[in-house]
Amino acid sequence: VTSPFAVLGDDLWVDDPDVAASYAGDRSGHDSGPVAGLLLPRTTADVAAALRIAHEHRVPVVTRGAGSGLSGAAAAPAGSVVLSTHRMTAVLELDAAERLVVVQPGLVTADLRAAVAAAGLFYPPDPGSVAFSTIGGNVATDAGGMCCLKYGVTGDFVLALEVVLADGTVARTGRRTAKGVAGYDLSSLLVGSEGTLGVITEITLRLLPAPAAARTAVATFASLESAGTAVAALVGAGLPLSMLEIMDRTTLRAVDALTRMGLDDVAAMLLLQADDADAPATVAAAGEVCAAAGALDVALAEDDAESAALLEARRQALPALERLGHWLLDDVCVPRARIVPLLQRIEAVAAQEGLTIGVFGHAGDGNMHPTIVHDGSEAARAAVRRAFDAITAAALELGGTITGEHGVGRLKRGWLTRELDPGALAMSRAVKAALDPRGLLNPGSVLDP
Ligand SMILES: Cc1cc2nc3c(=O)[nH]c(=O)nc-3n(C[C@H](O)[C@H](O)[C@H](O)COP(=O)(O)OP(=O)(O)OC[C@H]3O[C@@H](n4cnc5c(N)ncnc54)[C@H](O)[C@@H]3O)c2cc1C
Repeated sequence: VTSPFAVLGDDLWVDDPDVAASYAGDRSGHDSGPVAGLLLPRTTADVAAALRIAHEHRVPVVTRGAGSGLSGAAAAPAGSVVLSTHRMTAVLELDAAERLVVVQPGLVTADLRAAVAAAGLFYPPDPGSVAFSTIGGNVATDAGGMCCLKYGVTGDFVLALEVVLADGTVARTGRRTAKGVAGYDLSSLLVGSEGTLGVITEITLRLLPAPAAARTAVATFASLESAGTAVAALVGAGLPLSMLEIMDRTTLRAVDALTRMGLDDVAAMLLLQADDADAPATVAAAGEVCAAAGALDVALAEDDAESAALLEARRQALPALERLGHWLLDDVCVPRARIVPLLQRIEAVAAQEGLTIGVFGHAGDGNMHPTIVHDGSEAARAAVRRAFDAITAAALELGGTITGEHGVGRLKRGWLTRELDPGALAMSRAVKAALDPRGLLNPGSVLDP
């Protein structure tokens, strides 16, 4: 049977099952496909044409950026078609005077940052996946990263969006001005909507002037708790740090095995950075706070190269842990004052289940990525699931959230109903029903069908 998408032509539609399958998953390892084909749009008009066909023939569509997501949000279910944005990579406009940039969604975030840096401007959000994830994926997950402590998350930089709705209608949300409050904040509704409300085809982002040269330091600790105490003290001190990251012993050993950097074999390491005008003084003051909280050692990066190497080590945390075997990564966020109890709960869960749980994350935001490493056996999988649920439940009990930045996707859709109150859940279902009445956009992700 000829697919209804065949009218789009060979350039935009691929029905080779092997090619389509290679676009059907994300990095969570969540099951996907067999999918019905692959859409390869270059323009908004291509996306609109594809969604009109999908709507008419009631075919589910899963939008995909780089597939670097960790929640199963881009794990396309059987019978759906994947819409990849990887050909939509244009920088459409860079307005240095207004400090904004307009881009297509498939642009890789590092390329976006480089393009604006060439004009002396700064796009801060830098997820660990910055070198390969797309700006469309970042907007659709409201991605965080290492700089959120000072600068905020992706959504804090979104001024306007162009979106293709489920029936192929093209809509523009937001504004280009520094301020503006006309109507509902539809851009914010689409930020973090994980491909369930529309396909984002154009993104207008606010930019900042380039920051001062950054200074970096590392502080090492003999226990995870003392590192957590230092984080709470640093946040309490109100120092203008631009980065405050944590890696525990399991993570440090894995990163060292991968990078051969000679990282200290300690219970925990904090990575601190400041990029304000007085960055050396800020980092020095932060070092004193760490020392007072019981740091074993505080060391300043000697130069930009060493600083860059330390940041790269932190970005390698997940790839390094992945090499240890099977893994399941959690993403929970608690109030910063509750980081120590969260870390204690994670240690207790690891001991109870007899599992190795590497902890790293954006400590300054209270956003931790406990990563359960296991041998893949049936027995281990049951324990891993219990541990994952216990950690996620602990975050909620501590006044936190089930996901700080990776999103709900398919991995945590059951948990969303535990976090949201009935009113918020009803609002969410009403929005989904209004914008996607046939339930065709990324069905089964975020909300239980
Ligand atoms: C090593 C590593 C480090 C990471 N570090 C971080 C981190 O520090 N912070 C963080 O937040 N995340 C991090 N992630 C997770 C991931 O990179 C982010 O979620 C990222 O935003 C996903 O972008 P993507 O282009 O790969 O999107 P995909 O994985 O392809 O898709 C993610 C979701 O967005 C939707 N989507 C994608 N493009 C569009 C579009 N144009 N319109 C509508 N919906 C769309 C998809 O349908 C899906 O629901 C990391 C992942 C890895 C592998």
